[in-house]
Amino acid sequence: MARKPIIVGNWKMNKNNSETKAFFEKVDAVAASENATFGIGCPFTDLRTAVDNAKNLIVAAENCHWVDSGAYTGEVSVPMLEEIGLKYCIIGHSERRQMFGDTDETVNKKAKRLIEAGITPILCIGETEAQYDAGETEKVIREQLTGSIADLCPKCVGNMVIAYEPIWAIGTGKSATKDDAQKCCAIVRDQVRVMYGDEAAENVRVQYGGSVKPGNIVEYMACPDIDGALIGGASLKEDSFIEIIEKTK
Ligand code: PGA
Repeated sequence: MARKPIIVGNWKMNKNNSETKAFFEKVDAVAASENATFGIGCPFTDLRTAVDNAKNLIVAAENCHWVDSGAYTGEVSVPMLEEIGLKYCIIGHSERRQMFGDTDETVNKKAKRLIEAGITPILCIGETEAQYDAGETEKVIREQLTGSIADLCPKCVGNMVIAYEPIWAIGTGKSATKDDAQKCCAIVRDQVRVMYGDEAAENVRVQYGGSVKPGNIVEYMACPDIDGALIGGASLKEDSFIEIIEKTK
């Protein structure tokens, strides 16, 4: 069965409630498509507004905690996301790994709890510039996946989204070449195959992320192992996200 493309914007720490409402009012209708899934990951405070204004766009949280409730000041649990009808959650973004202490181990715990709740993880991995320069990209991808998707069921992994985002390409305007992006997304798929077999590998959707914009989305989407994109900067403006949607559907 062909994999359905999935394009998700990652707003990071941008936009308040009224900006969220205005964005969804403009973009949601354009996102209606049988052929691909389009969505937005937004701050916790925007999620309710996003869900209420989304008919076509899927909505993702940008993080979660793996424990259901308790003394974890500032955290948001999976049941809280579940209760507002969320179906996707980004985990392990490099900004969280680099600035907020997320590790393969905690990302794995988050993935397990999300899957249990029927929420699809969009799990991010990717190498630093130093690792890229040292030729360690493949090793890093395989190691991060080994930890982050450990002890899951093959079907669960097949239903996940994995975003390969080289850190040196995030927010820098310096995107990976389509050949490099394809090669790395194929490594992601191969590592899923090594760990969970052919069916999981054929079903898992692999996104490329890192300076994706209207001008390069088509060439990435033409790559056989790239099933979508995780998009930061270019998802913030309605017009550029609409252009990306139009070019994908
Ligand atoms: P960017 O961000 O598109 O601005 O490079 C991508 C991401 O962080 O997911």
